[in-house]
Amino acid sequence: MSARVLVVDDILANVRLLEAKLQSEYFEVATAMNGIDALEKVQRIKPDIVLLDVMMPGMDGLEVCRRIKSNPETQHIPVIMVTALDQPEDKVRGLEAGADDFLTKPVNDIALFSRVKSLVRLKMLMDELLARGASEGMGGRPLLSEEEEKRPGRILFVDDRERLYGRVKAALEGHHHLDFVNDPLKALEEVERHDYELIMVNMDMESYDGLRLCSQFRSLEATRQVPILIIIDPDDTARLAKALELGVNDYLMRPIDPQETLARVNTQIRRSRYTRKLRENVRRSIALSVTDPLTGLYNRRYMTTHGEALVDEAANRGKAFSLLMLDLDHFKRINDEYGHDVGDRVLQELARRLKAHVRRLDIVCRIGGEEFVVLLPGTPVDIAQRVAERLRIAIAEEPFQVGTPEEPLSLNVTTSIGVAGFERSDDTLESILKRADEALYEAKNAGRNRVVLHAA
Ligand code: GH3
Ligand code: MG
Ligand code: MG
Repeated sequence: MSARVLVVDDILANVRLLEAKLQSEYFEVATAMNGIDALEKVQRIKPDIVLLDVMMPGMDGLEVCRRIKSNPETQHIPVIMVTALDQPEDKVRGLEAGADDFLTKPVNDIALFSRVKSLVRLKMLMDELLARGASEGMGGRPLLSEEEEKRPGRILFVDDRERLYGRVKAALEGHHHLDFVNDPLKALEEVERHDYELIMVNMDMESYDGLRLCSQFRSLEATRQVPILIIIDPDDTARLAKALELGVNDYLMRPIDPQETLARVNTQIRRSRYTRKLRENVRRSIALSVTDPLTGLYNRRYMTTHGEALVDEAANRGKAFSLLMLDLDHFKRINDEYGHDVGDRVLQELARRLKAHVRRLDIVCRIGGEEFVVLLPGTPVDIAQRVAERLRIAIAEEPFQVGTPEEPLSLNVTTSIGVAGFERSDDTLESILKRADEALYEAKNAGRNRVVLHAA
């Protein structure tokens, strides 16, 4: 992982030490030795994370943190407060100032890298969301709504005894909701039933190997993306390294510190929510790129991609395939007489009827203004012709109600339909569409409101 880290400390030796450690892991490092300089560098170089000493003459670390977190331009930059071990009240004040996590001096390597990586990953997720938001014209809108930020997280806690659970629960009281499972095997079932945002596992269970459990969570579909936070003994560095390698996101050392517990849980819950949001966004933009906004039907691009796949299947595996091409009859008159809005409602009602009268696996597409194609997988042309006839009747028999409550309007609408299918070994989607189009033309010429099959 490559990221820009700003190290802030008033003592040169401390700055140099952290700088050397971070550079050895290929982080890009900038440094500042007082609060004013730190704020100026945060503004100018936009680091991916800030390591901030609490005790500094002049403006202290807490004030620097408050200013970073109150500026909309910099508030999403994660801040880790570096505190002296004998100053536990610093943690409370750090949290109040908006710090995301803590490190205690002397800074240990595993702690340093897992904290930095965990927070940088979160920031990268946020950057990605911000970039997508900007490209969708949502610049300036928060990534998560206030409700999404503040809602209590839903956490699964796995341990074969209850003691540790009690202490974690107390630390998260009033912030998050914790479910306790004392049987690790049952935990693997529980995650399928509930939508957990974080899983916490005690590494020192008597009855079950905690590492194995974490690796099982990582491979289960339901929990692959759910962050895992483990609780581990400070001497257990070998297993800690193994756990982080397995994809565990962060850890707490025993005896657990309530402030650190809350800070780390908050980070992981946010991470969970950002990941989810990002996945939703991707899904939505995929949906938008293949559907037509007026009718919600698939668009021409989608029709082409899927149609070609179906033709391949027909050519290579002998599966039947047909398609229908539909065009509204005298649609121009409807627009001319009643206006474009009424025309649009006719198109929407037509889309609804088409979908209602085909199977779920059939693909209904709007490929042009008032031109539609229905792909019929596994369907030979004679059956396709019957489907077409059923659609023609479903449209022609029942007038379209396209008025408004104030001005009801009932219109008789008809369509002409051309049918063609995969019939020749050298057929392509294009050749089949061409025959369907010729059949449609024939249907129009023969007086409209009819189905014509164009055999190869
Ligand atoms: P035919 O029976 O020969 O198909 O006659 P037609 O009037 O339906 O055919 P033509 O292709 O001449 O006209 C199609 C009309 O469809 C022209 C255009 O105004 C209308 N149209 C195309 N797209 C839309 C749309 O999105 N909304 C509305 N309301 N009308 C549309
Ligand atoms: Mg038409
Ligand atoms: Mg037309």
